[in-house]
Formats: sequence, structure tokens, C-alpha cells
Amino acid sequence: MSVTAGESWTSHGLKFHGLSLSGIRTSMAMPELSLSFDVAQAYPFVLNLKNFFLTHGHMDHAVGVPYILSQKAMTRQPKPRFYMPPSLVEPLTRIMKTWEEIEEHTYEYDFIGLKPDERVVLNDKYFVTAWPALHRIEALGYTLFEVRKHLAPEFRGLPQGELARLAREGRQINEIEEIPMVSFTGDTRIEFLDQRPWIARSKILMMECTYLDDKKSIEHARQWGHLHLDELLPRLSAIEAEKIVLIHVSSRYPTAMAERILQDRLPAAERERVVIFPGR
Ligand SMILES: [Zn+2]
Repeated sequence: MSVTAGESWTSHGLKFHGLSLSGIRTSMAMPELSLSFDVAQAYPFVLNLKNFFLTHGHMDHAVGVPYILSQKAMTRQPKPRFYMPPSLVEPLTRIMKTWEEIEEHTYEYDFIGLKPDERVVLNDKYFVTAWPALHRIEALGYTLFEVRKHLAPEFRGLPQGELARLAREGRQINEIEEIPMVSFTGDTRIEFLDQRPWIARSKILMMECTYLDDKKSIEHARQWGHLHLDELLPRLSAIEAEKIVLIHVSSRYPTAMAERILQDRLPAAERERVVIFPGR
């Protein structure tokens, strides 16, 4: 695999393309929705996207921001939107100002601080909401929700013509369901699972799991604001997600070794549900 290319992975009709390796790079694009969670070093697969959701300001997740802006300007793309923890807006703006000074050029951009539970509407079908992650610096996790409209129960069974007439009269014949499709953690301790009730119910839970065995202790993981497989295993049965995708696995575990440890340590019933994201 070439690092600049990233790897694709699809589930529940949603396509992901990205890379995640602890301390080195994390960037997970959803190209069909023109968004990326984190940007790593601005690999080519994020350069044409419109919405960027930064989990926190550590360089392996966020250093690509200035480069994305310069590439967007060079290819005359509209200004992108970067969503991020509020405390990151000012220092990142300062970095851009410095780079504008170096280049004697000004850039167009929106850096938008998000508070937990704020929503970013992508289109009629999808929105993203933020929630607090638990890392060493201010950090957010994000959930992509799908909005589905159903005919409200009291109108089911009515003929089409009747429904059309009610809708014309302005009656609300639909009910709205909001389905948590993807939750993305960035870097966090295990207690992110308890931050909002829908996180563990997301169809796809893309979560960091930096350490997989006793090469590092749970205490070490927690001290650095990370997560150990030993903390996840006892909680698996309470997580309703249909797919649990581990990202941010430490480079101490080359991919073949990481897969082997995971398969050895997971209960048999969990071996298909829990996977490591293929791009690292
Ligand atoms: Zn971090």
C-alpha cells in the first residue's frame, strides 16, 4: 500500500477512505459526503473535500490544514469549512496568519468551533453532531446521522390520493427518524462510550484502540488519553454497533500481528463485528 493513496472500506452503503496509525497519521474521508474526519498530513484523497471535522489539534490529526487551504486556493476551489473544538480556532488562525505572512498571500477559510451537540447539516439526508471526547487536550468525537422520513402511524393504510390531499392542506403526515450511522472518536479514553446514548448504538463505530496487549498497560493508555483493548473487551457485549472498526492502532503492532492478536483475543462471536481499518 502506498501511504498517499489510503485504503477504502465500505459498510452499510457508506464508503470510507483513509489512513490511521497512532501518533503518525489519522484521516478518514467519506468521499460521497465530501467530508473527512481529521486530515493528517493532507493526503491527496482529502484535497477536494468540502467539510472537515477535526477531533483535536495534535499534529498527526490536524497538521494538514494549511496545506489543504493552499491547494484549494491553487486549484480555485471554494473555501472549505473546518469544524473543530472551540479552543483550536484561535491558535490555528494564528498559524494561518503566520503562513500568510511567509507567503505574502491571503487565504479564504472558515474555522468553526463546535460545542457538543451542535449540528452541522450536510444535506436533506445527513447531519453531523459533535460530542466531547476524553483526550489530553480538548477533543471532540463526531456522529453522522441519517434522517429518514416515514409515514406517521395514524396515516398508514390511507390511499395515495388522500395522503396527497392531507399534505396539500399542510398536515404533517411524516415522522422523522434520526439514525446514528457512524461515530468517529479521534483520540480518547474508553469513557467516550458514555458521553451520549447513541454513540454505542451507531451502526458503525469507528474508535481508537491504540494498544492491543501487554506491550503497554491500561494505565499507560489512560495516562496518554488513549484506549487499550483490555478496556474494550469487557464492554463489547453492551455495545450495539453493527460494526466496530478499530483505528489508531500503534505501529508497535504491524498489521498482520495486530490482526492476529485481535482474532486471538476476541470472543468467537465478535470476530466478524470487530475489525481493524485496513489503511494504516
Ligand atoms: Zn492526540
